[in-house]
Amino acid sequence: NSFSQYNLSDPILETLTLLGYKVPTPVQQKVIPLALQENDLVVKSKTGSGKTASFAIPICQLVTWDENLPQALVLEPTRELAVQVRDEIFHIGRKKRLKVPAVFGGFPLEKQALTLKQKSHVVVGTPGRVLDHFQKGTLHGDKIQYLIVDEADLMLDMGFIEDIRRIMEFIPENKVMMLFSATMGVHVQRLTEEYMKTPIYIEM
Ligand code: AMP
Repeated sequence: NSFSQYNLSDPILETLTLLGYKVPTPVQQKVIPLALQENDLVVKSKTGSGKTASFAIPICQLVTWDENLPQALVLEPTRELAVQVRDEIFHIGRKKRLKVPAVFGGFPLEKQALTLKQKSHVVVGTPGRVLDHFQKGTLHGDKIQYLIVDEADLMLDMGFIEDIRRIMEFIPENKVMMLFSATMGVHVQRLTEEYMKTPIYIEM
């Protein structure tokens, strides 16, 4: 039971070793193989379970270094989470030299726009600010193949549903979507029904 069972490339495996991740956690054991096969997933799991790496590892593996436009978008409810998750993805993708900008409110839009102008593989952000960048044309969604909605219940409680709906218009309909939530209330269920065809449900 180790990460070497997943067919991950050497740069990713080496980084996991450096990070001290030896054994995949239960949520990682379920999510990583299904995510690597590009399934839509709805995952009920809590913070502290290793859920961030459960999507960060497959995303880092799946994105192509040569593409300049973002290939994955990760939505987080708060700036703190956006920074934390960005750091985890950045660490896992470090040996692959992945660019992982974070965008969130309360920080100059122009500075973030300059960062976004450079090559980026995975963008992590809060819905309002991500939408701002799409609308201003400083973020391009045409190449996004992976959308992760993290902490979906919190995100919906905070009233981000309309922002999420508008964000969907900037990214291809044909994408892989993974939704993570600690609880599965009606609003989370409605979001999954609206945007996911036949997701696989994982309950931890
Ligand atoms: P999370 O649930 O994503 O907030 O992760 C909780 C903590 O577990 C984070 O500090 C991770 O760095 C750490 N972590 C994630 N996966 C592993 C693993 N397979 N082995 C050891 N630590 C891990």
